[in-house]
Amino acid sequence: MNWEIYQVTQHRIGEGQAPAFRSGEAVPLSGLWRPRHDGCTNPAELWIHKNELFPLCEQCGAAATFTLLAAVQHISEDPDFQ
Ligand SMILES: [Zn+2]
Repeated sequence: MNWEIYQVTQHRIGEGQAPAFRSGEAVPLSGLWRPRHDGCTNPAELWIHKNELFPLCEQCGAAATFTLLAAVQHISEDPDFQ
């Protein structure tokens, strides 16, 4: 996947403002997501593509929650890019 062709369409969302999703749920927006899992510290932010499933916690393999940090949109999906 070549992320260079993606463009950031939203500014970063403040902590606590975005809804949280759980491992195994469908990803609603392509973008940069922050995993959060009690007991695991400093999880790496992940680029996850829309319609994929949120992964399990990278550190321990259990279900984690994810909050959106920055959404991106594929240029070909952008109706303004015509
Ligand atoms: Zn964990």
